[in-house]
Amino acid sequence: MIVLGIETSCDETGVALIDADRGLLAHRLYSQTDLHAVYGGVVPELASRDHIQRLLPLVSAVLDEAGVDGHDLDAVVYTGGPGLLGALLTGASVARSLAWGWGIPALAVHHLEGHLLAPFLEDTGLDFPFLVLQVSGGHTQLIHARALGDYDLIGESIDDAAGEAFDKTAKLLGLGYPGGPALARLAEQGRSDALRLPRPMLDRPGLDMSFSGLKTAVLTALKKQVYRPEDVARAFEEAVTDTLVEKTRRGLEQTEAPALVVAGGVAANTTLRAGLKAMAQRQGVPVYFPRPEFCTDNGAMIALAGLRRLQAGQVTETGAPVVAARARWPLAELAPPAVA
Ligand code: ATP
Ligand code: MG
Ligand code: FE
Repeated sequence: MIVLGIETSCDETGVALIDADRGLLAHRLYSQTDLHAVYGGVVPELASRDHIQRLLPLVSAVLDEAGVDGHDLDAVVYTGGPGLLGALLTGASVARSLAWGWGIPALAVHHLEGHLLAPFLEDTGLDFPFLVLQVSGGHTQLIHARALGDYDLIGESIDDAAGEAFDKTAKLLGLGYPGGPALARLAEQGRSDALRLPRPMLDRPGLDMSFSGLKTAVLTALKKQVYRPEDVARAFEEAVTDTLVEKTRRGLEQTEAPALVVAGGVAANTTLRAGLKAMAQRQGVPVYFPRPEFCTDNGAMIALAGLRRLQAGQVTETGAPVVAARARWPLAELAPPAVA
């Protein structure tokens, strides 16, 4: 079974081909970062227009690289949500139209299911059930993943997502957009003992988190004009890491999940990876991360999520394109693959 995956939920155009037996055959990613950087954030209309220009050349490129013809594919899967509606619609329209033209089924998959299944792109011993720490630009959630499509949300940020906090703090430090990776690089040069920021909500029981206060604490520290920016960056990264590590530890304790998956763009952060690895080791639980390039948005994770559902026998509609996209789509609404 060979599946084409298309991701266009935000500002990355991702396209990938995956084979049930041979794994990932080819993948391409076009990031619109430069397009949006001058505006300091993603401009939805520009994102949609750019996806339209990039999609077909990227699809041709992966088919050429894999030496596969569209008619040899078994399905086209695409991100149906959540995300920017206009951006989602470009991917949905192209995916549905290609599938219709090739006479094969199309399937909409959930963006976060893509993120949390990304570690399966590597050849590891991972299997359900597991606990997921989803840390991305739009979400910070602890999810008990019992089986494919059976996800319990057990904790989440009550305000900013971790990635959002990284980006906003980076902006305060004058690091441009998107700031997460830039802040992480700056933090590497910082000293750990120069400044200590609060660990939000660790004094309270439960699995919910909060990151918006941290950004205010950074602003207050910067106004004092006594701390070096690299030390502030380091203090911020350590506060986020400590908070996420402790909440995840509690999540493992509560669910008794036998494995931990860390997914989403912030999972690329080396300090967070190290903190979570050390904690998981103490708990005696294996931890799985996607490789860094598959932590942020990409087509490979979408292709994989679709492949998994199709392998489980999920039914799809064929015939005239029915374009399905949802800007809001809670993960907990997903169900295990519906079999005919
Ligand atoms: P969602 O998946 O929740 O809809 P998204 O798709 O925008 O949101 P991702 O692409 O998964 O999010 O991740 C992007 C986020 O990850 C950004 O906020 C970015 O700053 C952050 N990020 C990427 N690399 C790093 C890093 N090395 N350290 C910290 N943050 C990072
Ligand atoms: Mg992005
Ligand atoms: Fe994402």
